[in-house]
Amino acid sequence: MNIAQLQQEILRLKKEKDVCILAHSYQAREICEIADYTGDSYKLSVDAAKVNNQTILMCGVRFMAETCKLLSPEKTVLLAQPLAGCDMADQMDKEMIEKVKKDYPGYTVVAYVNTTAQLKTICDVCVTSSSAVQIVKKIDNDNILFIPDCNLGSFVAQQCPDKNIKLLNGGCPIHASVTVEEVKRAKALYPDAELLVHPECIPAVCEQADYIGSTAGIIQYAKNSGKKEFIIGTEISIAEHLQYDCPGKDFHFLSLKLICPHMKATSLMDVYNCLEGKAGEEILLSDETITAARRCIDEMIRLGD
Ligand code: SF4
Repeated sequence: MNIAQLQQEILRLKKEKDVCILAHSYQAREICEIADYTGDSYKLSVDAAKVNNQTILMCGVRFMAETCKLLSPEKTVLLAQPLAGCDMADQMDKEMIEKVKKDYPGYTVVAYVNTTAQLKTICDVCVTSSSAVQIVKKIDNDNILFIPDCNLGSFVAQQCPDKNIKLLNGGCPIHASVTVEEVKRAKALYPDAELLVHPECIPAVCEQADYIGSTAGIIQYAKNSGKKEFIIGTEISIAEHLQYDCPGKDFHFLSLKLICPHMKATSLMDVYNCLEGKAGEEILLSDETITAARRCIDEMIRLGD
């Protein structure tokens, strides 16, 4: 089968088996094309909770499938590629943060959504990269322990100077690998381009940007901007998707290191095999985990409104 035939087969199977397919914006073009919903991790889990399909198939990484399960515990949630983890989410586990919390009594523990469901069970509130600043500002406590991403945490701390924000040494190795030298090189190559970066990049890189925002924020900014040329400082698939969506504009990669192997692990064939029941993994979480982790997500929804 060629790609178009495989896509047709997936669409047929998805309808026959009543499955809703979610694809994170970092997924390959051919996967986004067959998805019912595309977007960032939180938007996808909210979309999944609204649909009538009993089965959700996540093309993304494990913590995203877990977040879907937390928001839709009655549904069957499948992860198309079981090897797709997240280096940031795997950096800190429940046991480690339980110990750290003892050093920070009275602090509100704010967890980036890029964390495991297990870790969420002992945190107070979740945030996404687009909601982090707004939510931290609204927390009724000046003392915040922000985990796991120290770069996103630094960005939030800058925007919330009244808060005392403690950071740990975690983050996305893909985004954090971008250097100031690469920024200089890209700006020299494309002097008319605006630089749009994700706050998971290091502060010295973010300081050089014309816009700092979430994946969804970067997409929206580039689409709405009157400018014609952009350097994209997040996973390279975003520049690729934007180039398809805005043919009159030019998008350049900030760095070729911005390729997430976990996000690239899912293939169209994985999606097909998962629908056939030959591959993929069902996400199973205990009732206790769902109840405890869900509190943290519910608090994010309450403060994010
Ligand atoms: S880009 Fe970074 S944060 Fe996102 S899934 Fe990959 S490793 Fe995790």
